[in-house]
Amino acid sequence: MKTLLPTSTAGSLPKPSWLAEPNTLWSPWKLQDDELIDGKQDALRLSLQEQQHAGIDIVSDGEQTRQHFVTTFIEHLDGVDFQQRKTMRIRDRYDASVPSVVGAVSRPQSVFVNDARFLRQLTDQPIKWALPGPMTMIDTLYDGHYHSREKLAWEFAKILNQEAKELVAAGVDIIQFDEPAFNVFFDEVNDWGIATLERAIEGLKCETAVHICYGYGIQANTDWKKTLGSEWRQYEAFFPKLQASNIDIISLECQNSHVPMELIELIRGKKVMIGAIDVANHAIETPEQVAATLRKALQFVDADKLMPCTNCGMAPLPRTVARGKLHALSAGADIVRRELV
Ligand SMILES: [Zn+2]
Repeated sequence: MKTLLPTSTAGSLPKPSWLAEPNTLWSPWKLQDDELIDGKQDALRLSLQEQQHAGIDIVSDGEQTRQHFVTTFIEHLDGVDFQQRKTMRIRDRYDASVPSVVGAVSRPQSVFVNDARFLRQLTDQPIKWALPGPMTMIDTLYDGHYHSREKLAWEFAKILNQEAKELVAAGVDIIQFDEPAFNVFFDEVNDWGIATLERAIEGLKCETAVHICYGYGIQANTDWKKTLGSEWRQYEAFFPKLQASNIDIISLECQNSHVPMELIELIRGKKVMIGAIDVANHAIETPEQVAATLRKALQFVDADKLMPCTNCGMAPLPRTVARGKLHALSAGADIVRRELV
């Protein structure tokens, strides 16, 4: 990537209100069959255009074709029954009714490859594609087959690797795995979480990223954050192991978070996507606020490895807010870029 401080988003952007209910997660589709396929493609076009208008350097599909960043991927797999639901505690934080693993899991066909091809046709800019990480996937399922979180994670890692390889062949430049669960299950992250992630990226001929945030700006997450105290040191528990891993890029939540910036020193050498946009409130950052966060990060990330980003996905935000935040991200990165040159 030639641009200094290339900007991108964590992944999701709000969907148009004619496609899905706005301002909500797991929003049901408003269209059906062929109309839904067309609608998703139109939304993807719009989402790309909004990123381009805002001057975002590494673009994504805005996750316009998926209902949810984890569930939609799992829906395409064999071995998971969406009718057999159980109530589970997600990331030790809130209860949700989740599907059950009832047999060996496999991916009968590709999940997002056609969407990636479609996006590739529309732009020459670098494309980043998000997939759920193995640990975050197992945390949203009841496992009635393997009876082992670790075993199931290894199975998902294999499946994710197949999908990722096809996405790279379709022209994706960066594959990102979303692992918010890394911020919760530290022992498992160190025991097998990072290892299964490395299995998922095995042999990929593209850059790879892991996104580790404190979750979407939904109530359960904001309530949880209030219990974390004045210093959020979660990243410290697994950064050393992540630093030693084969992952190229690490995506973090930094804007308005209580993560001590100096923790980023522990992953020195990696590229770092610095979350400089808060997705948990509707206030649009000023370019100067974004720039201030990036400047702080520059103490611990070399300039050629810093990638300004959002804290997390913006799917549940109003479109005008998300649009404003994208522009602020670009403008803030531009301020710091000019200081560096
Ligand atoms: Zn996130």
